[in-house]
Amino acid sequence: MDCIFCSIIKGEIPSNTVYEDDLIKAFYDIEPQAPKHIIIIPKEHIKSAGDITEENAKYISHIFSKIPQIAEKEGIKDSGFRVITNSGRDGGQTVGHLHFHLLGGRDLGAKIV
Ligand code: 5GP
Ligand code: ZN
Repeated sequence: MDCIFCSIIKGEIPSNTVYEDDLIKAFYDIEPQAPKHIIIIPKEHIKSAGDITEENAKYISHIFSKIPQIAEKEGIKDSGFRVITNSGRDGGQTVGHLHFHLLGGRDLGAKIV
């Protein structure tokens, strides 16, 4: 299976790791849209938020339990940040491996789209 983020997990494609453990990995986005733009992924290939189940939901809760720590390390915990996941065609998802964008380091505005 051809998946950029699975290749990043395996170390076949280099990435700048921000946080990693048995279940998840966080690394800097290659095309940052904010001063801090981190991608957080589960180490299991889940396609999108549309494929979250009771069985794989442990990855999601784990990601969210680590976001404060990652945000703190990146210096955006107190100033604030945004967490986004794009899902499917209309959601604008370009990489078919579930991921959360953690964005901060500037005023992101009140609008989501
Ligand atoms: P999506 O558009 O699917 O929500 O987000 C995919 C994100 O992955 C984009 O922000 C894009 O810049 C990032 N991205 C795509 N390929 C790579 C890569 O090889 N390395 C890193 N670090 N980020 C990538
Ligand atoms: Zn994958």
